[in-house]
Amino acid sequence: MKLLDGKIVSQAVKDQLKTKTDARIAEGKKAPHLAAILIGNNGASETYVASKVKSCAEIGFKSTLLRLEETITEQELLSKLNELNEDADIDGILVQLPLPKHISEQKVIETIYVSKDVDGFHPESVGRMVQGLPAFYPATPYGILLMLEHYQVETKGKHAVVIGRSNIVGRPISIMLSKNEYPGNCTVTVCHSHTPNLKEICLQADIIIAALGRPEFLKADMVKEGAVIVDVGITRVEDASKKSGFAIKGDVAFDEVAAKSSFITPVPGGVGPMTIAALMMNTFKACEAKDRP
Ligand code: NAP
Repeated sequence: MKLLDGKIVSQAVKDQLKTKTDARIAEGKKAPHLAAILIGNNGASETYVASKVKSCAEIGFKSTLLRLEETITEQELLSKLNELNEDADIDGILVQLPLPKHISEQKVIETIYVSKDVDGFHPESVGRMVQGLPAFYPATPYGILLMLEHYQVETKGKHAVVIGRSNIVGRPISIMLSKNEYPGNCTVTVCHSHTPNLKEICLQADIIIAALGRPEFLKADMVKEGAVIVDVGITRVEDASKKSGFAIKGDVAFDEVAAKSSFITPVPGGVGPMTIAALMMNTFKACEAKDRP
């Protein structure tokens, strides 16, 4: 078994971006600039946004963090997004999800300019990705591709089983793995909560992407010998032994599944850091795109 180590790969991606950013600045060009919006006081969202802002600083990107009250109206938020859309210095905009119930996620996603949609959630970005056109790929699936690439995991002709069909992970990774280039060319099966024979399907998989949000759902008896396992799940589970009062669990029963796998991501330290690295890649690309006439 070999660990797909998200800490190592994300650091390599960030180092590469730092070199390119330093070179931009030496040439007198602007630094990439990410604007992040955080609404309310969700502990997990705070942690994610803090990591994104920290990564910007490490690489030499500018970042602007806008903290907004839980009570902000949808119209106020959309106006704020329009201001960021029109701000020429800002290259990428992300709104940390989930949003308060009174705000439409879809409206927020569709308000962000496609040219600044570094989360890759805008329907136009998704459509472009599906058609194989240049696009911002959603950060988590893009991070998974970067990791498979880094470890040169063979994907051509493999059967990939994706558990979960969300717009942010399951569905886009299923499309990306089926595209006609590396890392891709997989035969993909997408499973969800109505899939009756999930275990039989997983047992046929060469690659499993577990993205369902059920702690330790994927057990060793669901996995064939030598499979590649990518665990996207992040769930906070109460744990009195931890100072924070919770432990982070993935969707894979790591110890038992690791023993059968060829490659496996840990949680934490697998897909999570790669998501941030991919977001940084998208922000850099958004900035570079503006250099072109
Ligand atoms: P989501 O929107 O809740 O979607 C979960 C998907 O899993 C749904 O398609 C659901 O099926 C399916 N599912 C649920 N229970 C199932 C079961 N028992 N058998 C088969 N399929 C089942 O979740 P998400 O946003 O994609 O996130 C999934 C997990 O990844 C969460 O733990 C989340 O925290 C984590 N995540 C991690 C990162 C990262 O950076 N590492 C990024 C994003 C998300 P239906 O469609 O039928 O309901």
